[in-house]
Parts: sequence; structure tokens; C-alpha cells
Amino acid sequence: MCGIVGVSGIDRAAEVAFLGLYALQHRGQESAGISAVHDGRVTVHKAHGGVADGFNDAKLQSLPGRVALGHTRYSTAGGRGLINSQPISVRYHQGDLALVHNGNLTNAHTLRDDLVAEGALFQSTVDTEVIVHLIARSRERTVDAQVRDALSRLTGAFSVIITVGETMYAARDPWGFRPLVLGRKKSGWILASETCALDLIGAQFEAALEPGDIIKIENGSVEYLEALQRAERPAPCIFELIYFARPDSHVWGVSVDRARRAFGRQLAREHAVEADCVFSVPDSSNSAALGYAEESGVPFELGLIRNHYVGRTFIHPSQAGRDFRVRIKYNAVREVINGKRVIVVDDSLVRGTTSRGLIRLIREAGAKEVHFRVASPPVISPCYYGIDMPTREELIGANHSVEEIRAHLNVDSLGYLSMQGMHDAVAKHGPFCDACFSGNYPAPLVDIQRGKPAASHC
Ligand code: SF4
Repeated sequence: MCGIVGVSGIDRAAEVAFLGLYALQHRGQESAGISAVHDGRVTVHKAHGGVADGFNDAKLQSLPGRVALGHTRYSTAGGRGLINSQPISVRYHQGDLALVHNGNLTNAHTLRDDLVAEGALFQSTVDTEVIVHLIARSRERTVDAQVRDALSRLTGAFSVIITVGETMYAARDPWGFRPLVLGRKKSGWILASETCALDLIGAQFEAALEPGDIIKIENGSVEYLEALQRAERPAPCIFELIYFARPDSHVWGVSVDRARRAFGRQLAREHAVEADCVFSVPDSSNSAALGYAEESGVPFELGLIRNHYVGRTFIHPSQAGRDFRVRIKYNAVREVINGKRVIVVDDSLVRGTTSRGLIRLIREAGAKEVHFRVASPPVISPCYYGIDMPTREELIGANHSVEEIRAHLNVDSLGYLSMQGMHDAVAKHGPFCDACFSGNYPAPLVDIQRGKPAASHC
């Protein structure tokens, strides 16, 4: 998963992109990059880690111009080197081109093999570079048509922002898997993965790009180009609402906080239990736990505290004992838990390893009963559209019954939100992709069907 930002027509655009990335930091901390266009030339700076680690005043001043792109990367797939980070930039026959991408193409290896057979030379191992080659090799005459031609050959998930010279393009795939919104700041324009980035920048929300939309921003005007052929059924990712997006964002036309509360309320209706308090696994489950408490009448408490200052490199191998990773991130509040029947709400259950460690913490803090509630259905299939998930073998919900998982977690009861309940809770804003819960993949898995590896990106 990644976060992307585009800034057009604003002085010191790189600084604005930096702020946007700051708001989108939850979408990726592996690396951050900003490109800026000045006199038609692109300058790029990329660095490992979060955006605050990689950029300072001097770096931002070395990126002059009124047009900029930003990218924050989550995935470690495709290799960690900065060569695999974004923005990707090349000099092509129509000018300097830079590109940022959020999503995962499902035909990237197929396209790449074709391009290599035609003589293309690739610098990175990420699928995004395919898009750059397709634009550069398009036989269409205008840049608008070359961009559209390239995007129309892609299958899978992509929200992209591209600059060619000072002209900016933005597009979403025909299914609309990943979000992309357009905002306005005075006479300039901002594109971002989530509305929380617009809020931080001080931009007004103008529109969410629809599946298949392609827009062009030039000289302060926004133009909608001929859209890509839309999928019969749109498939925005429901996992953005469950876990990924920030609760203060609006995604798919709904407040993420309100969607999560609706999941929590539905969960309470489906899996009620007598208890003394309900609490969340912070932070992504806070809204769902509040919804559960509102519906059930069971008091909401802060039973687990999360340490926000855990760096990725903090854990020394000698400390990597059982549950150490969980303990360094969470602690249980004994005063809330001791002697109580508690309901713990988590947004999703993927591998189950963190949850098992957490339950142990909660039991050690003196819980009399532990009832675990999951505000989404069992995850049974990997995501091939841009959310980093383990293989099917590692997904606890794919390989074990609910009773087996309950016993494994060592909880008194376990309840998942039903598939119907999940869809009902946000029905006004669907339909959605639910492939990781259902195994029904809306966009063809071209590479996998051809025996090639799944694309690796974000
Ligand atoms: Fe989202 Fe799951 Fe679909 Fe991936 S498979 S796009 S995580 S709903």
C-alpha cells in the first residue's frame, strides 16, 4: 500500500507535497519521495523511512517549482532499494516524465515480459515502471492519447498521478480499487489518496475521481479526458474502510470513522455477550469498538495502550522472545481489566499472531473472561490489488475453523462480523471488492493465471 500526492500551480509545490505525505504517512513508512518540475525539468529526492526522516528544509529547497508529486511506500515487496521507490522519473521524447502509483497491477509481469522482448530495459523490479515504458512506447500522437493508451493496457489496481513537463494527469483503474481525491487551494490543485491530506494542506475537497476517470491539469484548469472503459461493477476496496484509511478521512463517499462505527454496531448485533467493558486494539479498531459499545450498551474503556514511538529497527535480535514485539507496542491497563469480563474489538484478523500475544497480556492483567470480536469477516484469500497481506498458508482464517481459532487465541468466545453484515453496514456506498474475504476477485489475475509471479508493488 502507498500514499500519493500531486500538487499543481502552487508556489513551493514540493513543500505542499511534503505536508500531504505527512498526512498519508500511515499508508507507508518504508520510503518517501518527492519530485518537482521547474522549467520543464524534473528533480527527485527519495529516502528510506518516513517522510520526516528523509526531508528537511534544504532538501525541499532543492526541489523548486509549482508542480510536484509525492509518494510514501509501504511494501517491501519488489526489493527495498530506493531504485524501487517512487516517484519514478524518466526523460522521454515528450519531456520529463514523473509518476507515482498506488495499487497493484495484475498483468505487470505479462506486460513486462512483452516489453523486454521488444528491447525495453528496466531499472527497477516494481510494476510501476511498466506504465512508464508503455507511455514512452505508445504509437499515439499526443501525450493525452499516449497516457490513455498506456493506462488502457493495465489490469488490476492503480491510482496514478503523472507529470509530463508541467502538465499533470491523474487516473483511477476501471474498477476503482484505490482512492484518489481532487482538492483546490486558491488557484492551485491538489490530488491525494485521502481527504486527510487535503485537510492538512488547507485545500477544499472538490471531487473524488470515479473508476476509470482520467483528468488533466494544465495552466490552472482541470479537464476530464475520455475515461477508460469502466468495469461492469465497480470494486473499491472495502479494506480501506475496515483498516487502512485514516478515520478522519472520507473514502468512498463515507466518513471512515462512521463506517467503522457501523461495522462495530453490526458486530454487536450479531455477537452480543454479557461483559463489564469493551475496548479496542488501538488505533485502527477504536471506531469499531465505540460502535460496538454504542449498540450494546457495554461501557467503552481504554484497556490497551499503544506506544506510538516504536521504531522499526528498535527490536534487537536478543530481545525477540515470545510476545516481545507485542509487548513493546502495547500494554494492558490492569485497573480496567483486573477481575472483569472484557470484550476486545479488533478490525481484522490476518495471521493471528499479534492477537494471541495481546490476549496473553490481557489475561495476565487479570481478565476474568475475554471475548474477542472482529469487525470484519475471516480473511481467507490474499489481496492482489495493493494491500500487503501474507500468503494463503499464513492466513489463519483460510486454514482454521472459528472454533479452532478461538481455542488458538485462548479466548472465551470469538465472533466475526458476517459478510452480509459488513456489506449491509456500508450498503449505500458500495458495491465493494471483498475478495480477501470471499475469494471472488473482480479484476482478472492475469499473471497468476499464466503461471507468472504476482506483481510486487504497493
Ligand atoms: Fe481490498 Fe481485500 Fe479487495 Fe484487496 S482483496 S482490494 S484488501 S477488499
